[in-house]
Amino acid sequence: MSLTAPTQIAGFAGEVITPGHPAYDAARTVWNGMIDARPAVIARCTSATDVAAAIAHARSEGLPLAVRGGGHNVAGTATVEDGLVVDLSRLRHVRLDPSHRTVHVQGGATWADVDRVTAPLGLATPGGVVSETGVAGLALSGGVSAQRRAHGMTIDNLVSAEVVLADGRIVRASADEHADLHWALRGGGGNFGVVTSFELRLHPLGPDVFKLHVAYPLVDAARVLGGWRDAVAGAPDALSTEAFVWALPVIPELPEHLRGLRYVGVSGQWTGDPEEGEAATRALRSLATPLLDLSATADYGQAQAALDPFFPAGLRYYWKAVYLETLPDAAIAATVRHSLEAPSPRTLVIIRHGGGAIARVPDDATAFGARDGEWMLSVDAIWDAPEDDAENVAWTRGFYDEAVGFSAHRRPYFNFPGLLEEGDAAVRAGFGANHDRLARIKAVYDPENTFRRNPNILPAG
Ligand SMILES: Cc1cc2nc3c(=O)[nH]c(=O)nc-3n(C[C@H](O)[C@H](O)[C@H](O)COP(=O)(O)OP(=O)(O)OC[C@H]3O[C@@H](n4cnc5c(N)ncnc54)[C@H](O)[C@@H]3O)c2cc1C
Repeated sequence: MSLTAPTQIAGFAGEVITPGHPAYDAARTVWNGMIDARPAVIARCTSATDVAAAIAHARSEGLPLAVRGGGHNVAGTATVEDGLVVDLSRLRHVRLDPSHRTVHVQGGATWADVDRVTAPLGLATPGGVVSETGVAGLALSGGVSAQRRAHGMTIDNLVSAEVVLADGRIVRASADEHADLHWALRGGGGNFGVVTSFELRLHPLGPDVFKLHVAYPLVDAARVLGGWRDAVAGAPDALSTEAFVWALPVIPELPEHLRGLRYVGVSGQWTGDPEEGEAATRALRSLATPLLDLSATADYGQAQAALDPFFPAGLRYYWKAVYLETLPDAAIAATVRHSLEAPSPRTLVIIRHGGGAIARVPDDATAFGARDGEWMLSVDAIWDAPEDDAENVAWTRGFYDEAVGFSAHRRPYFNFPGLLEEGDAAVRAGFGANHDRLARIKAVYDPENTFRRNPNILPAG
């Protein structure tokens, strides 16, 4: 017989999971295998009212609070040691609003949930490139998609949100209601409340798109990266591309000599007529002699899930990304040098091309901040064994520290923050001129900093 009474949350209709519950271990697990936190309470919510009750319970019991959307944050901010997790994994409904051409997405949905509803209709909103990633975390800190240069970041498509505030009020944030909160949610992360529903703008897309994917020999890395940079600068907005160093998968479909081989790749999406995309990407397919060219017209919905198997839950991940305003040869040389020294063959080093529709939004129109970082350099260490943690983390930090030197604004991408080590100075630097306005809005909506498991904005005053 247990001597402790089960945890009860007043006014809560969902499931309360505490240590000893048969579902506890599965419920406390997040995507990154490096994270092993043991929360005191996991509150699986079924409504915005449940979310309010869970927040009230955490506050009255003095429990640190974490919010779980898709659980994919690399830093493991979806959970918290000895605290309360507001778990939204039961809130995944997606509803189309054809009259406004928007989609309403509950706060625990993944991008697969969204694409499943919108893609068959030839509609899409800019989301992540791995379908198992949560909408919420991604959408609140930016959102870099395969269609980014055509339709901007996810935040640029956030029409409205239903938000549960720290004091339990449930409000709607849009251009007309709580406009300051609407501004803050577009880049300010989970600092302001729990979003239980997102309304996102839809764009006509597909169902077919042209997908670029070319693998070149690693020995040509500098030439391919430089050639890609020169070819895509000034490209039409329909073309969003990235260049990277990675390893080919060990699968029977590949010739034996290519399996597991490290290579330099160029990939991307043409958001428009696939035939035009084929023509527009030809130059990118002959930057050197390819090892493989998998470029083809593909179903957009299926393509959105194609990368899922490469990022399985439970491996060890430590990622950091910085925006660069330009991509000088020295940054390319550093990228090649560090990539060759990566301790783990699973590791991905990727430079994403931005600009286009992203850069046309003024810096002060959303909380996100500076938009002139046309290139995002992301160092994504991926490995298997805990004993290799120190080496992989040190390698990532060493590379990242050098990469930051090529950036004028030194702006990180807060969705790839490594472990939760970004202190106040990094957060201030990241939001730049928008930081003080964010701190004032934080003081209005979350004066006691209840929502702090994130790149944290301290309330003004
Ligand atoms: C495999 C993989 C692929 C990725 N691909 C992309 C990509 O293509 N583009 C891109 O931009 N990013 C990408 N990311 C990064 C991704 O945006 C972040 O990891 C993001 O935090 C994931 O959101 P989530 O809801 O799954 O995270 P969670 O870990 O559940 O949440 C992260 C944080 O977001 C906040 N949060 C979550 N839900 C809510 C809510 N409902 N209301 C308020 N705050 C909330 C909380 O602060 C929480 O700590 C990728 C990550 C992974 C692991």
